[in-house]
This record gives sequence, structure tokens and C-alpha cells, in this order.
Amino acid sequence: MSTTPQIRESRQWRGVIREYADRLDVTDATPVVTLGEGGTPLLPAPALSARTGAKVWVKFEGMNPTGSFKDRGMTMAVTKGVEAGAKAIICASTGNTSASAAAYAAHAGITAAVLVPEGKIAMGKLSQAIAHNGRLLQVRGNFDDCLEIARELADNYPVHLVNSVNNDRIEGQKTAAFEVVEVLREAPDFHIVPVGNAGNYTAYHRGYTEELQRGVTTKMPRMFGFQAAGSAPIVLGHVVKNPDTIASAIRIGNPASWELAIAARENSDGYFGAIDDARILEAQRILSSEVGIFVEPASAISVAGLLEQAEAGVIGQGATVVLTVTGHGLKDPQWALRTADGSDIQPESVAVDTAEIADVLGLAKA
Ligand SMILES: *Cc1c(COP(=O)(O)O)cnc(C)c1O
Repeated sequence: MSTTPQIRESRQWRGVIREYADRLDVTDATPVVTLGEGGTPLLPAPALSARTGAKVWVKFEGMNPTGSFKDRGMTMAVTKGVEAGAKAIICASTGNTSASAAAYAAHAGITAAVLVPEGKIAMGKLSQAIAHNGRLLQVRGNFDDCLEIARELADNYPVHLVNSVNNDRIEGQKTAAFEVVEVLREAPDFHIVPVGNAGNYTAYHRGYTEELQRGVTTKMPRMFGFQAAGSAPIVLGHVVKNPDTIASAIRIGNPASWELAIAARENSDGYFGAIDDARILEAQRILSSEVGIFVEPASAISVAGLLEQAEAGVIGQGATVVLTVTGHGLKDPQWALRTADGSDIQPESVAVDTAEIADVLGLAKA
């Protein structure tokens, strides 16, 4: 008899597989591995609407159980792996995939091996993978090297690959588009996502395509994807050998879903652009200080892309725009403290003295 407690009558969100079981490749017998991912807020962003004249919504994927959208795909990839009898999973990661894989493997009682580029992983993500008992190896190479090795291991050894080259990942991730449509009751005019391997870009396009086919929506959003300027292979049209950006989650020189993403761009009258690191950090600060949403640098590129395209007149007045912000700011918090000149912000120190503190705060007595 199973000792897993069952959720019966409850309004608790049940994770993307149970919520969208009829739209995913699962059966009643599938052993669902879930941490309650998905069901993330779609928040209006009045400050961004005021800056652009567009109707701006933010899909806050940092609210997933391990703090990034990777959980939507990981629940599917690990579930299908366990269904097929896998005892171990493997992935290459810029950080968030490793955190997610380790957490879902821990929940399923199987092993996760993760390959990360040495010295290139944000501390929050590294500690998550270790906390969840992942077998984490730092490879003396970049992400693209890690992915090549992970694929070779999965081809030749009994380990199940859970990178986004695994279609189950894309399937799980497409549910984010379903959630957007449930709130807006229509597809937006534009959807903007950060792009690394371009799996998420591909997944949103697939989700919106299915909604259109079901007749729930009447249009395909224009899919806009942004890469960091030092790591923009799709924009440049060639592999970038040594990708470089502070946005570590999208530091990828040879995207795994490159061709699918190009097809999605063509189908949606979309666009790929590049944004430099200074603009990414500026956008991160705008989102945290004016909207109240703290994201990691890679996620902020959606905001930077919106501001650029609105200024260029491509995103017009009154257009409905959804920005996906992919990962939580607490993953990689150091950048919030960094000033434009490269020094770190030090909070002011004060004595245990009410009058002094009132003075420092500029408060006048009532
Ligand atoms: C993985 C990741 C991305 C990139 O997603 P792709 O599907 O690889 O394009 C962007 N932002 C964050 C925070 C991520 O973890």
C-alpha cells in the first residue's frame, strides 16, 4: 500500500501534470513526481505600462518550488523517467536545471547527476543542488561542453537525460502559456522571454499553438526572445565559442533548441534581439524597485527587451505584452548590491538612537 498522503478535496494547486493531465502524455497509472510547480502569478506591472504605454503583465516564474520555470519541465521529465524505470537522471546546467533536477530526484528517491561549468554557477543554485543531494560535478569547460558529455553519458550508460533536448521538458513548460491564456482569456499581442537554449521560447510557442488549435484564443502572440550581447548565437547566426555575460542562466553559445526556435519565430512573426549586461542590470533594478518583483539577471532581459522595443515603436501603445521572468532574484543576489561603477552598496550604520535614526531618515517630528 502506498504511504503517500493523497490530496482529496482541496483548492491547493496540484502541479502542472495533474492540472493539465488531458494535455500531456500521461495516464492514470503514471507515477507523478511533483513539488506543486506551476500556477505562478501573472501580475500587472503598472510601472512598466506607464513607461511604455503597453498593457504589461509579468509571469513570475521565480515562484516555482525551486525558484525557476525549470520545475515545469522537470516534473514531466522525471515523471516520465521514473515511469520508464530510470534510477538515475543526468543533466548539464547553468544552475537552475541542476537545482530543479536534484530536488525532483530527491522527491522521487532516485539519483541526480549534474554537470555544471566550473566557477560559472550562481551560489544560490549551487547550494540548492547540494542541499537536495545532487551528485554535482564542476566540469572545466563551458555549458555547451557539459551538455555534450551529458548526452554521451545518457546514450551509453543507464542514466536518463533531463535537459531540454528531452521533449518531456518542453511539454511540461508549455503549460505556462495555458496559464497565461486562462488569466487573459486570449493570447497577448507580444510574449517576451529570455533565451539560452531556447527551450522555453519553443515551449511557449507550442503552448500558444495548442490554445489556438483548441479555439480558446484567436491569435498567436509575436514571440520575442532576448539573448545577452556577449552570448547571442541566434542573433548573430553562428555559434559563440566563449559566451560571456553576467546573466549566467543564459550564458549559452550553442542553443540546443536553435532550429525549433527559428521555426517558432517564423511562425509567430517573432524576433530575437541582444541586450548588453549594463541594460540587463538596469532592467533588473527597475523591476525590483518599481514593480516589486526581484529576479535574477537573466530574467530581467525580458524587461530590458520590452523597454527597447517599446522605445523603437515596435511594441505599440495599448498592446498587451506578457514578460516571462524566469528565475528568482534570491538565486543570484549579489547583483542587486552592485552599483553602476562596480562597487557594492553598503547599508548605512547608525547608533541605537531614535533621534539620530529619524534624522538620517529625514523624518521631521509631527
Ligand atoms: C534556463 C533559464 C533560462 C533560459 O531558458 P532556455 O529554455 O534555456 O532558453 C533563462 N532564465 C533562467 C533563470 C533560466 O534558469
